[in-house]
Amino acid sequence: MRAALLFGPEDLRVTEVPEPDGEVIVEVQAATTCGTDVKMWRHGHRALAPYPCAFGHETAGVRADSGERVLVSDSVACGACPPCSAGRPQICRQPTWVLGGFAERIAAPSDALHLIPEGVPFQAAAMAEPLAAAVHAVARGSDADDVGVLGGGPMGLMLCALLIRLGRSVTVADRHPERQQQASALGSRGVPELARHDLVFEAVGRPEAWRLAVGAVNPGGVVVLVGGCPHGSTVELDPGPLHYEELELRGSFHHSRAEVDEALRLLAEFDWRVLLGETISLDQLPAALASPSGGRALKWVVDPRA
Ligand SMILES: [Zn+2]
Ligand SMILES: [Zn+2]
Repeated sequence: MRAALLFGPEDLRVTEVPEPDGEVIVEVQAATTCGTDVKMWRHGHRALAPYPCAFGHETAGVRADSGERVLVSDSVACGACPPCSAGRPQICRQPTWVLGGFAERIAAPSDALHLIPEGVPFQAAAMAEPLAAAVHAVARGSDADDVGVLGGGPMGLMLCALLIRLGRSVTVADRHPERQQQASALGSRGVPELARHDLVFEAVGRPEAWRLAVGAVNPGGVVVLVGGCPHGSTVELDPGPLHYEELELRGSFHHSRAEVDEALRLLAEFDWRVLLGETISLDQLPAALASPSGGRALKWVVDPRA
């Protein structure tokens, strides 16, 4: 079969590979791209196997054995480590990663599979993975009404939509006017820069953005750090407000199995097509990842049958 394999930093090749071997084989119908893919492509990632490795973590398709429509979650928590035992599978110390959505077929443990609700197309279902991370991030926040979101990419806009649904007053900051408009269309205020808010979500994943997010929270407020910074980076913070204003900084990573199911339910309820970009073939993927981001926040949909 054909698959896009990562051979090294910025070296993605579409090539003929052996058929996947595993508990369940899924015929991929749609695999969406995300900012994490761009980071993995550029810098590598701890979830990746040694090069050359399978790639793509937002995957929806059809079970080869039963014909059921399924989302392939990108990980299965071990269920036994201290965080798992404490009810926090998001930060499992020994997860099994299930990557390889940018291929005609993917092998997955059955524990990674989720039935796709009726009426949710494959392209939308693939987005349940990042949406589940957004569901988790919102749960990591406080119940403050006045919320700022730094970053109007797909993650920032998903956070925005979930918070609006909860009745919060949301401001999304992004320097791209197109993304400000997308945020406004969801019912928030789209602005170029954050003022101050009681609860701030960082959805960029760069040290400078982490610093800005911490600087944009009111005394006593909570900052949820959603965007992962490149490995090895450092963030310099003013200790003053952390101490004298009792700021709370909370990391947010990944999602639980229940949060993926919650995201699939939400996808049945809402129109997430606002984030869906062009459908592309496997052969178009390397160039798509290399193209500069900016402008409208969109996710490409890779259809390996295209
Ligand atoms: Zn993703
Ligand atoms: Zn675990």
